[in-house]
Amino acid sequence: MVESPSPFVVGGHLALDLLNTVAAPRGEPVEFLFSGAALLDWLVAAGALHTDEVGSLARRLSPSALDAIRRETVALREWLRPIVQRSASRRRASLSAAELRHLNELLARDVRVVEVVPSGRGYATRTVRRSASAVAGLRAPVVAAIADLFTMADFALVRTCAGPSCTLWFLDRTKGHRRRWCAMELCGNRAKVDAHRQRVRRG
Ligand SMILES: [Zn+2]
Repeated sequence: MVESPSPFVVGGHLALDLLNTVAAPRGEPVEFLFSGAALLDWLVAAGALHTDEVGSLARRLSPSALDAIRRETVALREWLRPIVQRSASRRRASLSAAELRHLNELLARDVRVVEVVPSGRGYATRTVRRSASAVAGLRAPVVAAIADLFTMADFALVRTCAGPSCTLWFLDRTKGHRRRWCAMELCGNRAKVDAHRQRVRRG
């Protein structure tokens, strides 16, 4: 078995975690979507699909079909990246007419029908028909997340980590909106150690 690096799931939003599937934890950029299996692992780790959903969809795909979805997902990520950068710098969702058209074309491919059903004392939605193809089943949640990002997220709160060489994106969902780090274990502690070292040097 190939040992794969575990992806970062720190974005607070699936579409931002997609951007974070290429990252440079030790200076050199690491591609987390390096194989079809890695894409499946990431979809589960990022909460896009349940393990059993992924399993049943993947069984219906040949390795080459799965790799085609992986390549398509990487292309989608790099299409998304400059739009998120621009939207974050303008502090509002900002898509060109062509980008909006492309997003709607992606959404139109994957039909997903939900119905509302009683659940406990309230109601919940349940997927009754996902589009017939396994390909669509794997890509639909990611495309839906991108649509959600541009309609629901406050881009004033979409930022990259304050770590000097860190490129990870997140949606700041903290109450005071003062989140600075991708993760305390990654960049937060490093910054604290550096600040401590500087204090010691000065002192
Ligand atoms: Zn960071």
